[in-house]
Amino acid sequence: MTLGGPVRAVTAAYCAVVAAASLAYPVVPERFQSWLYSGVSVVVILAILHGIRAHRPANRLPWSLLAAGLTISLAGDIAFDIYADVAGSVPFPSFVDGLYLAFYPVLFLMLGSMLAALGRPDRTAWVDASIWTIGAATLLWEPLIEPVVVRSDGSPFAVTVALLYPLLDLGLLLMVLRMLVGRASVNPSYLLLVGALVTLVGVDTAYGMQEAIGSYVPGGPLDVGWLLVDLMFGAAALHPSMTRLTERMQRPPGSSTHRRLQALLIPAFAPAALLLHQHLGNEEHAPVGEVFAVGAMSLLLVLVVARGVGLLRIAEQRSVQLRDHSRALEAALGDRERVAAQLRERVDQDPLTGLASRTRFVDRVDTAMRAWRDGGAAPSVAFLDLDDFKSINDSLGHEAGDFLLRELGSRMRDHLGGRHLVARLGGDEFAILVVGSFESVAEGLLAALHEPVSFSGRSLRPQVSLGVTTAESRRSSTSDLLREADVAMYAAKRAGGGWRRYQPGMSAVLMERLDVRNQLAAAVQDGSVQPWYQPVVDLSTGTLRGFEALARWTTDGASMVPSLNWLALAEESGLIVDVDRLVLRAAVGQLAAWRREVPGNTLHMAVNFSGRTLQQPGIEDEVLAVLVGAAVSAALLTVEVTEGVLIDDEEVGLRLRRLRAAGVVIGLDDFGTGWSSLNYLRRFPVDHLKLDRSFTEDLGRGPAADTIPAAIVQIARGLSLGLVAEGVETLDQRDRLVELGFRTGQGYLFGRAQRPADLAAQVRASVAPTGGPPRVLRVAR
Ligand code: C2E
Ligand code: CA
Ligand code: CA
Repeated sequence: MTLGGPVRAVTAAYCAVVAAASLAYPVVPERFQSWLYSGVSVVVILAILHGIRAHRPANRLPWSLLAAGLTISLAGDIAFDIYADVAGSVPFPSFVDGLYLAFYPVLFLMLGSMLAALGRPDRTAWVDASIWTIGAATLLWEPLIEPVVVRSDGSPFAVTVALLYPLLDLGLLLMVLRMLVGRASVNPSYLLLVGALVTLVGVDTAYGMQEAIGSYVPGGPLDVGWLLVDLMFGAAALHPSMTRLTERMQRPPGSSTHRRLQALLIPAFAPAALLLHQHLGNEEHAPVGEVFAVGAMSLLLVLVVARGVGLLRIAEQRSVQLRDHSRALEAALGDRERVAAQLRERVDQDPLTGLASRTRFVDRVDTAMRAWRDGGAAPSVAFLDLDDFKSINDSLGHEAGDFLLRELGSRMRDHLGGRHLVARLGGDEFAILVVGSFESVAEGLLAALHEPVSFSGRSLRPQVSLGVTTAESRRSSTSDLLREADVAMYAAKRAGGGWRRYQPGMSAVLMERLDVRNQLAAAVQDGSVQPWYQPVVDLSTGTLRGFEALARWTTDGASMVPSLNWLALAEESGLIVDVDRLVLRAAVGQLAAWRREVPGNTLHMAVNFSGRTLQQPGIEDEVLAVLVGAAVSAALLTVEVTEGVLIDDEEVGLRLRRLRAAGVVIGLDDFGTGWSSLNYLRRFPVDHLKLDRSFTEDLGRGPAADTIPAAIVQIARGLSLGLVAEGVETLDQRDRLVELGFRTGQGYLFGRAQRPADLAAQVRASVAPTGGPPRVLRVAR
């Protein structure tokens, strides 16, 4: 039920009526004044009850107590009027005073319940408020309190009752000051309420001072002051922010400690000032004034000591926190060496098959090429690819696929022995660095690989295609050699399997790929290449945090060209630079559009930059120009780079540093795969790490799988870096990541990359509708 309209109308009517009554009050005939006054009180009480009903605050206690307090006070007014009508005048003290005084304890209860709802009692705030209140009491001694104590001619009971008024007001002041130094969130309702209380204390005090010198006239401006207090009470309850009255404000702790301490000097000197004034002044003062000043001074002393003890305790807590933090940091740095070793091993070795990794393989081919140029034997390289692996994976599942790859890996190792280096390049691709003649091992190897594999009762007949090449021209490089082996492998595959040796004539196959290259160049031009956006979410709540832009090549607007194939080609050909520019522009433009369409969203956008893109001089200025052009803050953009980019090039480091200085976030992608040294993390400007998908995939596959991600969490904490997990596909993976300390992540569980049009609803839902929590992406269990 939304009551926005009606409530607003009621509020307007309320303000008009009460304000008109307050203005009319001083000028209406005296006998109507008390009726008018009581009428306003009734309206205010009704307004508070209406506010409670219309806004339904979760914590209605303070408001109910306020209404109760004002009702008691109203009862006092009515009793006073009747008493005066019947008896001619009202004696002091009388039961009417009992009603008036009862208003205060109810108000204290109200403020107490508000403070209690704000959380842990804040001792420091109480001490500060007390110091100020004692200061105020000291200042009010002469004009307000002393006259009551000394010059009163009534009975001790009458004096006590008379004293209760200023004392209760001081109590009220104490609570109001406590509210002001506290941490409530400041909203219109809160301000009106505090304004009413401050005014109440002020008007009461002025009243007391006028009474002391006998100058108070009923029906005068002071009464209007009280009406104003009532007006504010009612308005506070009618304002919609009344539901947030007991919300805590987020403020960094200790932000205003210095100013608060300095300000305490003012009230702390008040008793001394009072003593001086009494001694140096001309007037006669009762000795009780000195007793009061000395008492106030002693109390202040106690409070100041308490404040000091509090400060010491806070300092102790902080130093304990600091120590824990630095311990964690040390532990993280200690872990670093161990993790570095583990990661290096991981980089050198393919975790699935235990064969050499692509990195190690390329490294070894490099070495062999150099040895050959120095007069050694010409190295041969073979590429091997499983036929139809995808359909095995799809029909029998990943486990069957993994099993097959492991089995083939161990057959290759067994067959080729320690002489040749066998590597798994990724997916179903293997490579061999052959020592000596390949022909002598070829047939035996293929025969071994073609032996059936049995997996859970089924028999699979693996078929492979293999291409081999031997270095010939001394000018050719490692990558030439690898490409030739690749081309030969393609030729074998096209011929239906078996093995082929590379020949220059095979470039027909290459031409096929070249053709793709031309198509790609055209696609980048004509808009067939566009980013799609994968959601990045808060792992524990599912709240949308932003997107990663991923390049997609669509033909005929529908069918997609598999991205890995063409992105590798784009990288190889240098077209990736244009792709990255295009994606950057489109993604930043899309973010700007979403910010316009859905005001108040704080979504981020991540784009991927190839090393080649970062080698373009002036690319950082281009990025900033795109941001400025779209009026998007740099802090909303993340540029994701891979580790290789950092290590290679000083210039690239410099460009990243400039981007970062301008506020762009730098993310290190595929973290943990291209490892060289964790020390790079210190030297290069990185804001967060993106745990490589392979770690996420491994989570839950035995206890060892957690150790590296866990240590990476430690390192990231130690170096104050953010963390993002990727490739989250299952709820188990998500839960484990959350346990390990990851807060942000992405993956098919939360959504694949999609066209912007298909994401509009999610973007809209990411903004909290006023009053409710932000909506979250639904995850099916
Ligand atoms: P990346 O930056 O690591 O991107 C994440 C890749 O993982 C994307 O593949 C994405 O579709 C895929 N992915 C996301 N969630 C899951 C999941 O839960 N499970 C699995 N199995 N995969 C998931 P995509 O789009 O094929 O991109 C592959 C790589 O291509 C990217 O890896 C990135 O390095 C590169 N790339 C993509 N777009 C661009 C671009 O615009 N510029 C550059 N330079 N590189 C790009
Ligand atoms: Ca990425
Ligand atoms: Ca990645």
